[in-house]
Amino acid sequence: MTARLNLVILGKQGAGKGTQSKRLAQTYKIPHISTGDILRAAVKAKSPLGLEVASILESGGLVSDDLVNRLVEQRFLEPDAARGGLLDGFPRTIGQAEALERILGHDGIKLCINLDVPVELVTQRLSSRRVCQECGAIYSDVDVEAISGTCSVCGGDVIQRADDRPEAIQKRLEAYERDTEPLLKFYESRGLLESVDGSLSPDDVTRAIAQALHARGIA
Ligand code: ADP
Repeated sequence: MTARLNLVILGKQGAGKGTQSKRLAQTYKIPHISTGDILRAAVKAKSPLGLEVASILESGGLVSDDLVNRLVEQRFLEPDAARGGLLDGFPRTIGQAEALERILGHDGIKLCINLDVPVELVTQRLSSRRVCQECGAIYSDVDVEAISGTCSVCGGDVIQRADDRPEAIQKRLEAYERDTEPLLKFYESRGLLESVDGSLSPDDVTRAIAQALHARGIA
């Protein structure tokens, strides 16, 4: 059996994790495991999980470690994760990072990629971000899809996420600094951290990530 490729992508909200994760997952043929996407899908489906977390997501708060840890553990049991997975939005706290080591085993994570972007730039990106409610395609407020409200990929409704409004953005960025930034040291101390300049164009960021993986003999 080929070795599992488990990657973590870290970065502030709006750093471009979603965009880069989709590309990496396609290139390395591993599932893109986004806890935010899983939780939003549950909210949309009004499942028991969705009803439990809806108000937390809307306000920009964090769901409990226990709940997301269980979601991720279950996700890794699905057949498409046999080759590994690319984690986006998880871990977000030291408690979650420790749980991930238990889930994947000690040498489970091959690399943690940190997309480094200044806070001013992510704030600007998040306030202008619009998303398709159906397929998750991402637009900017000046794009024709955002103005017309219709996704050019799937025809779904293009909206502003409730947590991309100013008060929620601020709350999420504060939570990132408090809860998630300590993970940089956590992964650095394990020799598993690579930082990439996330303020570059999406293609340049993809190239920088590919180089980082290559330099470590991962891909
Ligand atoms: P962002 O990183 O842009 O805030 P995500 O799509 O990753 O957005 O997550 C959206 C929301 O889902 C978060 O604000 C939080 O409420 C919840 N969430 C996602 N992942 C986690 C996690 N690992 N731990 C706790 N809450 C999470």
